[in-house]
Amino acid sequence: MRAIDTEVLVIGSGAGGATTAVRLAEAGRSVTIVEEGPEVHPDAVEPFSLEEMVAKYRHGGGAGALGQPPIAYTEGRCVGGSTEVNSGLWHRLPSELTEQWRSRYDIDEFDPATLDREAAAIEDELGVSSLPGPPPRSSAVLDEGATKLGWRSTEFPRVFRYDERGRGVKQTMARTFLPRALAAGAVLLPDCRITKLERAGDRVTGARARLTRADGTVEDVVLRADVVFVCGGAIHSPALLQRSGVRRSIGRGLKLHPTIKIAARFPFATDHDDVAMHRITEFAPAFTIGGSASRRGHVAMALAETAVPFEDALADWRNVGVYYAAIRSEGSGAVVAIPGLASPLVTYRLTPNDLSKLAQGLVALGEALLAAGAVELYPSVTGATVARSRADLASWWDAVTPKAANLMTVHLTSSIRMGERGHLAGTDSFGRVHGYANLHVNDASLLPDAPGVNPQAGIMAIASRNAAHFLTR
Ligand SMILES: Cc1cc2nc3c(=O)[nH]c(=O)nc-3n(C[C@H](O)[C@H](O)[C@H](O)COP(=O)(O)OP(=O)(O)OC[C@H]3O[C@@H](n4cnc5c(N)ncnc54)[C@H](O)[C@@H]3O)c2cc1C
Repeated sequence: MRAIDTEVLVIGSGAGGATTAVRLAEAGRSVTIVEEGPEVHPDAVEPFSLEEMVAKYRHGGGAGALGQPPIAYTEGRCVGGSTEVNSGLWHRLPSELTEQWRSRYDIDEFDPATLDREAAAIEDELGVSSLPGPPPRSSAVLDEGATKLGWRSTEFPRVFRYDERGRGVKQTMARTFLPRALAAGAVLLPDCRITKLERAGDRVTGARARLTRADGTVEDVVLRADVVFVCGGAIHSPALLQRSGVRRSIGRGLKLHPTIKIAARFPFATDHDDVAMHRITEFAPAFTIGGSASRRGHVAMALAETAVPFEDALADWRNVGVYYAAIRSEGSGAVVAIPGLASPLVTYRLTPNDLSKLAQGLVALGEALLAAGAVELYPSVTGATVARSRADLASWWDAVTPKAANLMTVHLTSSIRMGERGHLAGTDSFGRVHGYANLHVNDASLLPDAPGVNPQAGIMAIASRNAAHFLTR
């Protein structure tokens, strides 16, 4: 079997992996980044298109956490990870959460000032900005609805750079940190899936991988490394560690931001190429309201979730946008690697209070959309009333049940928490796996709880802090 030697092995090239790689490579370490998914040029496929789902998503976008109700989720699987497919909405970790997490999970040197400093540096490096002009119609309706109801709404900045004509380009990892890491000498192996870590006592010596060559043939390789950073995301990092026999506090405590949706029909055409930048934050942190991808296929899927005839609304899809309410859930889940299967079993248990927050979020979202001029609302609740007036929303309170609610999420965190409390945490305060001298995790898994805001900024700030700490040792 071919062996590849490296000083640092980074597994996964998303928000956490790319940040780790650039920090270590630019500090002069010899870094190899291994990514299971393919290398797809950021401009090769249309954002939010079917082609993008096929090229850049794991399982073409379909995966689910089992539970009552089950929760569909999606993840990127390509060079750059989920940053290639996400909406780029950027929100620093709220400082009150940082304080809470530090004391609850006993995390050393974890304070708002440090994380803000890391986030500010990343914002300068990537380019994080608000729209240079007025928002698109699909986003403005959220602001208009909130204003009419006297609710708070905000335009979120995004990881975008704008040219002088106002055209925005999302600053994904494949456009930013990965090219920088490669320029500093890092090596990137796309189409290369790490199947198992190799261990000797309290050290990892490297990993076994399956590399798919350009001609489709597969080669088994072994990567030998002095240090390993596992950055496969909140589902695949714990699965890889478990498959490798590392199990203590690994894979428990998974957190999601469950979302419930509405396909809203307006008496005017709305835009479909982007995702709303406005958020209604009146009810945060319990729940927030925002907009989803709303191409024809997304509209069709969202309409179908009410399970009533929807041909007429679909024919009018240019007037339909998809919106959601996302809750900060009290429930939690687990990731369990199953021998012989490439993907782990994922479960999630919502609490009764979570379901009632989802119902509250759905009704509030309905109110905002009606206030913004929507004439017909299809909720993602099987058999629920299609609402045309505020009075119709009342029936939704009882309709949101474990059997009828169709939920999904794109935010997955907390499956390998960081901190010094061994029974709660899988790693120390800086992502080193408890009991191992040279094995680290540095991705969404480390966040001790759901952040209640878009997680990429927090994930990258923590990953950058942990890389800096590693370099000082
Ligand atoms: C559709 C969508 C929209 C989103 N919108 C936003 C948003 O607007 N704002 C925001 O802040 N967040 C958003 N997110 C979430 C955000 O993108 C993620 O939280 C973040 O990218 C997670 O970072 P990560 O490094 O943990 O994992 P990822 O970025 O998912 O990267 C993990 C990478 O590791 C690879 N990998 C896994 N296992 C292996 C293995 N065994 N061997 C080799 N490689 C492996 C995967 O293929 C993947 O490429 C969105 C996510 C999605 C899917």
